[in-house]
Amino acid sequence: MTESVRLIPMLCTQCQTAIPAQPDEVAWVCPQCGQGLLFSETGLKLTAIQYFNPIPPGSKGRPFWVASGQVVINSRSAYSGRENESLAFWKMPRPFYIPAYNLPLEQLLAEGTRLVNAPFTLQAGPAVPFLPITLARQDAVTFAEFIVLSIEANRSDKLRNIKFDLKLSNLQLWILP
Ligand SMILES: [Zn+2]
Repeated sequence: MTESVRLIPMLCTQCQTAIPAQPDEVAWVCPQCGQGLLFSETGLKLTAIQYFNPIPPGSKGRPFWVASGQVVINSRSAYSGRENESLAFWKMPRPFYIPAYNLPLEQLLAEGTRLVNAPFTLQAGPAVPFLPITLARQDAVTFAEFIVLSIEANRSDKLRNIKFDLKLSNLQLWILP
């Protein structure tokens, strides 16, 4: 199998300004025109990046993939046999916040799990500086599944096994405090 190396021009698709991209980063805002840009294998793609209001001045915002997640539990068993809590919890779609900045896996799951239970009221404000965005969109979906597992494993009924489907909709980049 042969594969040729392709160079992807790191230029803003709106104003052609060169994007000062670091190796691990997957999304940026253009320093010239403020356009959100997302890495793709065919070149940079336009993306919306929204900023929470307010973000305390002097602190950098934290980028998150935010989505509405609908979990359908197909089967679940636990050692103490109480499943109602889980079924009730997932009856409605839940907001998912997947940290998109560099964070050790354990902390990423802890933060993602915490925020499902303590969601933000999202309102957009002015652009602010933020930490580098290093988690790709497709990885956000995988981590959202880990977050569901983590929530279920933390329930008091001692999870034994679970099968579920997770559908994420309206996946967006937000800069949060
Ligand atoms: Zn630009």
